[in-house]
Amino acid sequence: DDKTCDVVVVGSGGAGLAAAIEAHDKGASVVIIEKMPIAGGNTNKASAGMNAAETLFQQQAGITDHKEWFYNETLKGGKNKNNPELLHYFVEHAPAAINWLDAKGIRLNNLTTTGGMSVDRTHRPNNGAAVGGFLISGLLKNINERGIELMLDTSVTDIELKDGRINAVIVNDEDGNEQRISTKAIIVATGGFGANAQMVTHYRPDLANFVTTNHKGATGSGIALLQKIGAGTVDMNEIQIHPTVEQKTAYLISESIRGGGAILVSRHGKRFVNELDTRDKVSNSIIALTDHYAYILFDEQIRQENKAADTYIGKGLAVQADSLVGLAEKLDINPETLSNTVERYNRFVEQQHDEDFGRTTGMRHPLNQPSFYAIPIAPGIHHTMGGVTINTNTEVLDTNAQVIKGAYAAGEVAGGVHGGNRIGGNAIADIIIFGIQAGDQAAAYAKDL
Ligand code: ADP
Repeated sequence: DDKTCDVVVVGSGGAGLAAAIEAHDKGASVVIIEKMPIAGGNTNKASAGMNAAETLFQQQAGITDHKEWFYNETLKGGKNKNNPELLHYFVEHAPAAINWLDAKGIRLNNLTTTGGMSVDRTHRPNNGAAVGGFLISGLLKNINERGIELMLDTSVTDIELKDGRINAVIVNDEDGNEQRISTKAIIVATGGFGANAQMVTHYRPDLANFVTTNHKGATGSGIALLQKIGAGTVDMNEIQIHPTVEQKTAYLISESIRGGGAILVSRHGKRFVNELDTRDKVSNSIIALTDHYAYILFDEQIRQENKAADTYIGKGLAVQADSLVGLAEKLDINPETLSNTVERYNRFVEQQHDEDFGRTTGMRHPLNQPSFYAIPIAPGIHHTMGGVTINTNTEVLDTNAQVIKGAYAAGEVAGGVHGGNRIGGNAIADIIIFGIQAGDQAAAYAKDL
């Protein structure tokens, strides 16, 4: 054999890196395999934050929250399709996962909200950075400090079983050579299949013409590898379209911009939805507009508070003007209509009551600080809620719901937590919570073997 270890982690997104760190700290020898030339996967692109209820950071910020609210709002957002056991585990272990990160120098103590959540429970870095890059660089620092091996440009192409247990993986390394790595356990953390158009349209023909926000590596290969050794799948046709995607670049405009106070207006300059309703509802309301696109509109204060806004402006995605009238002219919207829309919204902010669409969150300040910005957006494929079946130990279950010994899966590759619609900020929570659990469980399994 080319190598031997206790645990092979497949994929170096948030789930894989968290799992690798935890398995190492529980005494296992770990190798991480990543098919792309860089680490981080789709997690690198995550922008909103990490949801958790009843955390120390919420307490410090004077925010009252309850795990029960988090559970119920996630279940409602997921159209009651979420796996109850997985969701309970998720909600229960979220605060510990925030602390786990904090202990590793990854502090998420700045709070905002996302669609479908009633209070500020989306934890972000306090320097205004997007959560994904911040998380991956912090996790990689921990990987390096521990000397955990990370093989880049290397794909897992096969998983080997012996006597019903995981025995080895076959990889194709950076030089194109096949290698065999003997291992007691594997943690599959290969992410979703949002960049695999063929697979997406297989399950959802109606999504054939949508752009994708996903990185190239999100091909669902981990699902196929696990299916080959008998894994079951769940909710494969539950594919999320994210409402605010710039269509020419497929660049996602973070939900934290709306959480910070931005509104959506139609091509005719009118609001048409509670901007912080769940992603499925906001997406559908944009698709229902006659022109199937809208603008996300924000002011200078929101730009100052969120680095992502600067990134979009820097990339030339935003139309910018010193006044709302100027902005309307550039967008070819009736200036009076746009001014009226914003004035009316600003009044709702003052009274903290949205008479038109019942928005209750992210109404932080009136939109009145020039400059004003608008980015044209429409929905794009964003997250695959379905995936392989796991239990709360992250053990992979076969099509008869029996554990495949030594096989663990965590993150977007696994199905069940999010049901029929994922809440913004719940993917980062998912990958860290279940990544830690997979690391723990795989290390314990390898030790006992
Ligand atoms: P999650 O958010 O669940 O952690 P990510 O998309 O962030 O998922 O990360 C998954 C990673 O797994 C990506 O970097 C992707 O390139 C990698 N990956 C996918 N399939 C394979 C494979 N067969 N072998 C090695 N790495 C893989």
